[in-house]
Amino acid sequence: QCPWGTPNTTSISCSLADVMSEQLAKELQLEEENAAFPEVVAVAEGPFITGENVDTSSDLMLAQMLQMEFDREYDAQLRREEKKINGDSKVSISFENYRKLHPYDSDSSEDEVDWQDTRHDPYRADKPTTTPRKGFIGKGKDITTKHDEVVCGRKNTARMENFAPEFQVGDGIGMDLKLSNQVFNALKQHAYSEERRSARLHEKKEHSTAEKAVDPKTRLLLYKMVNSGMLETITGCISTGKESVVFHAYGGKSATEDKAIPPECAIKVFKTTLNEFKNRDKYIKDDYRFKDRFSKLNPRKIIRMWAEKEMHNLTRMQNAGIPCPQVVILKKHVLVMSFIGQDQVPAPKLKDVTLSSEDMKKAYYQVLNMMQQLYKECNLVHADLSEYNMLWHDGKVWLIDVSQSVEPTHPHGLEFLFRDCRNVSQFFQKVGVAEALNERQLFNAVSGFNITADNEVDFQAEIEALEKMNEDHVQNHGKKLSMFSSDGDPPIYDE
Ligand code: ADP
Ligand code: MN
Repeated sequence: QCPWGTPNTTSISCSLADVMSEQLAKELQLEEENAAFPEVVAVAEGPFITGENVDTSSDLMLAQMLQMEFDREYDAQLRREEKKINGDSKVSISFENYRKLHPYDSDSSEDEVDWQDTRHDPYRADKPTTTPRKGFIGKGKDITTKHDEVVCGRKNTARMENFAPEFQVGDGIGMDLKLSNQVFNALKQHAYSEERRSARLHEKKEHSTAEKAVDPKTRLLLYKMVNSGMLETITGCISTGKESVVFHAYGGKSATEDKAIPPECAIKVFKTTLNEFKNRDKYIKDDYRFKDRFSKLNPRKIIRMWAEKEMHNLTRMQNAGIPCPQVVILKKHVLVMSFIGQDQVPAPKLKDVTLSSEDMKKAYYQVLNMMQQLYKECNLVHADLSEYNMLWHDGKVWLIDVSQSVEPTHPHGLEFLFRDCRNVSQFFQKVGVAEALNERQLFNAVSGFNITADNEVDFQAEIEALEKMNEDHVQNHGKKLSMFSSDGDPPIYDE
């Protein structure tokens, strides 16, 4: 059979009423749409890419990439038009809501400017005024009905103006163009469905962080990792937290032979909402390693910095031999690391695992050891250490979640350490490890200080005094002091 041959035309008979039915047209349109953009509707669901449908998914991915490319070009054009309209005017009109993609975390400097929220655009045209309900105007023989072809055609053309500004109507509006009802209706349908598609994307973008789903740009990042062969498949989500979503994936082949990809990986996607991160500013703002960069950055870049911080901290821990995930790759706000667990089942948190008293005691001494190593060898304080961020795997404790970890010389570093000590002591005392030090003893054992205060309040006060001393030291000697410049040296608190 020749592929160019005429197709078998099987005419489907249906009534005129059906053909004329706007309802039917709508349904067909919707069906077509859903077929063309299934992912837009079903973005929140389940696994992304599975082994069985690699071919179709890569087609889908290509289509998505093309769509994204198109949307990007489209948005660039929109921005140019926006600029042209606004000029130097102090009051400006934003086309933000007509954009296909929000200037999300693109690298272009144009995107650094925060956008205006103009959900309710006062400049947006009101609903089109159509022929009054009675269906005719005029009197006597001058009566013109809504069915008058010329009037109607002109009106249809004019009504195109009420389509969203993103909708390309060409030069039709300026000319004496008469659109037939049929053509107008088809155009209207199309314009509306485009609008709906765009609205869904926007909605998706706005809610994506509240749901399990990740935003389109993150999805593209993940797709690329699979497409490049670095990851075999992304199987599903293992955790949704306030600040991150963690996925499980099977590792693929490495581009460079020297660094193999672990058979199973965890993908930590730092959420690109800003709200949750605002109250974590203090961890990073005062971290001298990031100090110079912090002030210059926009919020999106700051979120990437959390991912970067986690990567650096994990690397330090890895080098010290502390059991923790091994970094595979960092791409923007997405960190890929080795998976702690097996066959897609993550290792249980220490709070969820039932251990023999023997194992629990072993776990305690291991944690004590790791805290000391972390402090002395990695020059780090975990700053969120608790039974929630320790996994039990392979007969030992693994530390995770170190994006907020700081160096002990951080202005609040010792307070964070004391809080870690409190969590650890309380947990192990609760589960019945008789040998567990109390939080003050643990603090001294980890830090090497010898704070003798025998109550919480005085102890806390001494910690703050130490921090103050360190701050003064920094003030007097400048930020680029030797004690700060060499990564990994233990801090000096006295002169
Ligand atoms: P959050 O900031 O959301 O607490 P975490 O890094 O603690 O982020 O990750 C959340 C959860 O995801 C963890 O409690 C753990 O169950 C799982 N998880 C994170 N990283 C890994 C990993 N490398 N291997 C296995 N599970 C992980
Ligand atoms: Mn955690």
